[in-house]
Amino acid sequence: MNILERYHAMDYGPAPEARNEADAWLAARDFSKALFIDGAWKAAASGKTFDTSEPSSGKLLAKVSDAGAADIDAAVTAAAKALPKWSASSGYARAKVLYAIGRAMQRHQRLFAVLESIDNGKPIRESRDIDVPLAIRHFIHHAGWAQTLEKDFPGHKPVGVVGQVIPWNFPLLMLAWKIAPALAAGCAVVLKPAEFTPLTAILFAEICERAGVPEGVVNIVQGGPEAGAAIVNHPGVQKIAFTGSSEVGKIIRKATAGSGKKLSLELGGKSAFIVLEDADLDSAVEGLVDGIWFNQGQVCCAGSRLLVQEGIADAFIAKVKVRMSRLRVGSPLDKNTDIGPLVDRTQLDRVKGLIAEGARQGAVCWQPDAALPTTGYYHLPTLATSVAPANILAQEEVFGPVLATMSFRNTEEAIELANNTRYGLAASVWSENVNLALHVAPQLKAGVVWVNGTNMFDAACGFGGYRESGFGREGGREGMFEYLAAKPPVGSAIKPATATSAQPVEQADGSAIDRTAKLFIGGKQVRPDGNYSLAVATAKGKLAGEVGLGNRKDIRDAVAAARACKAWPEATAFNRSQVLYYFAENLSGRADEFASRLVQLTGVAAKAAREEVEQSIERLFLYAGLTDKFEGRVHQPPARVVTLALHEPVGVVGIVAPDNQPLLNFISLVAPALAMGNTVVAIPSERDPLLATDLYQVIEYSDIPAGAINIVTGRSAELCGVLAKHDDVDGLWVFADADTCAKAEADSIGNLKRVWTGNGRSLDWTSSEAAGEAFLRRAIEVKNVWVPYGD
Ligand code: NAD
Repeated sequence: MNILERYHAMDYGPAPEARNEADAWLAARDFSKALFIDGAWKAAASGKTFDTSEPSSGKLLAKVSDAGAADIDAAVTAAAKALPKWSASSGYARAKVLYAIGRAMQRHQRLFAVLESIDNGKPIRESRDIDVPLAIRHFIHHAGWAQTLEKDFPGHKPVGVVGQVIPWNFPLLMLAWKIAPALAAGCAVVLKPAEFTPLTAILFAEICERAGVPEGVVNIVQGGPEAGAAIVNHPGVQKIAFTGSSEVGKIIRKATAGSGKKLSLELGGKSAFIVLEDADLDSAVEGLVDGIWFNQGQVCCAGSRLLVQEGIADAFIAKVKVRMSRLRVGSPLDKNTDIGPLVDRTQLDRVKGLIAEGARQGAVCWQPDAALPTTGYYHLPTLATSVAPANILAQEEVFGPVLATMSFRNTEEAIELANNTRYGLAASVWSENVNLALHVAPQLKAGVVWVNGTNMFDAACGFGGYRESGFGREGGREGMFEYLAAKPPVGSAIKPATATSAQPVEQADGSAIDRTAKLFIGGKQVRPDGNYSLAVATAKGKLAGEVGLGNRKDIRDAVAAARACKAWPEATAFNRSQVLYYFAENLSGRADEFASRLVQLTGVAAKAAREEVEQSIERLFLYAGLTDKFEGRVHQPPARVVTLALHEPVGVVGIVAPDNQPLLNFISLVAPALAMGNTVVAIPSERDPLLATDLYQVIEYSDIPAGAINIVTGRSAELCGVLAKHDDVDGLWVFADADTCAKAEADSIGNLKRVWTGNGRSLDWTSSEAAGEAFLRRAIEVKNVWVPYGD
């Protein structure tokens, strides 16, 4: 054998991580008492346990207490008892606890990493170098938020008792993402890890005991879906934070509808990994390995769809295959392992089933020629080519080591393909031309975009998705808001409209020329599809006029017009600002007319009517001014990278306006949505819609592009239901009766649109709560674009 042959024949020797400490910890613990409730270790009230086993061998690791409804109730009770003192403690006191947790975790860093790899199957390199350090960083980062809470989040208080349910793919890291911000905000928590991976959460609870976390502030309960559902449905919980599958996320959205519980959902993904033809191909291959084979592909933001430009596709795929052949599949505790076992046999079977179905649908699946270990739930890295956009491997989250590949001709097609998914969690863009990459990034419907990189995370940078990847962010400033509550609406309960509530009792006197208010769709005044009208009464019960009775078809037309309007979201913030100022100017020119209308319809005194018009103009001014000021941020995570936290419009936003102060509420809701570049489908007050229909001409004169604002009059509850079920509506704001609000939340699960309701209460639209940043925050998605720098 010559030197060259010897060199090529060289292989890695075994490099096992010692597991004796972890085994000693496992042997010493009584897992039948693994529920950490009120600072004590308890068995499940039912005495039940479940098995957790080792994915690399299938061997049993522990029989762990399986919480039932009674245990969840005890945990919520403990959290509620601990909450007042904890939330009233100083930010500094809470910061010290968070810091102590972080430092204690650091002291046991290796034990955490080894246990995580044993329980989950992830390579030790990943748990040691990524999961555990990031989890620690999360606690230490959030110590700072605890201390600056009052200054940074004025007017906010902790949301209360928080129920948190997490998945098995990053057991400790997901725990950290949940618990650290909750504690910083002053909340008490009940957290349930996934049933496949309970161990590091148990070790974490031990850390809490030692780090001075007051009893009851952190409760960690073990169990499966039933325990999760008991947390979600418990009336003593004020917020649910869930990470897991979109399927369960939708169940939770429905279960919490109308409960008033705050909700954040971090769900699945089908993220695009886009390689443009000028990319550094070797770097992109390394990125791809990390993007899809990190944690065996069991990663919510895995770059599971490779989109590669046609001209380089063959060369790139050839490089990927060579690299795949060198991936080392083996024991998670070997430091040279790239790919460990999947978490469980059920997951392995699911992955195999999806590959078989993908192949049946025409995909060509390739795997390197490598032997798998003889025990455990291993699966070879798999490359699927000839994948049609509708193939199951291109559409479904596989959550395994499977890469689906497609090619594209130009940048526009790449963006279209990338966005051709119901998910919107993450994306990677590879190009040596950073201008081009930053041109593509904002056009991708994803909460995180990595330029020339992948899987970069940091506690200071929000993480979370668009569309069916869920809503809410974890990490950073935006993540803190998830655990804080502003003052709830204190206005009176909104009564449901009855069919007769707006019916006039007397006819008009016939002295004026009839003015027929139509609907306002796509910049045009159009007749309602059904050709029915709704009579509008004056305050004295006379006929003030008639408006179109909008129906399902009108809403669909309005949504289509809003979706088609590109001029508004693509306009510069300064341009939008000028248009909103112009809107205010034009409304001001007709102030007397609107004031008279308010007097006629609502019966308010002339002075109050005049004030409402003035306040409406002032509010337009406010949002015109904020349009180019409510901007994103630049984060500097601890790496050679800048993260641009961009504020992007949510998209098409449906708005259901209440009856009180009908002009002011309409402007207060529509203006912030418009300011941030959303297009709007608004349903004005059912009782006094003429205030909105009178605005048509003002809107037409104000240079607002066609389709940016669409107004459909009619029965609010019915139209709200259509908006809630419409999959092309991205956000929905509902100030209506409690039942309509609850239905809007429950009906939103089709595309998991962002629903914001007043929970059946109205606002005093003149108050400071009815304007400002709280509204703008609802009108945006934060997209974090990571841009590495340096040679
Ligand atoms: P899963 O939805 O099956 O389970 C997640 C958790 O929910 C588990 O703790 C489970 O016991 C619990 N659960 C199951 N049914 C429930 C119910 N009806 N009510 C309440 N709780 C219930 O997901 P999984 O298989 O454990 O995890 C994989 C999924 O998690 C993937 O879809 C992945 O994309 C997603 N994930 C998302 C993120 C993110 O940040 N977006 C991060 C990690 C994982």
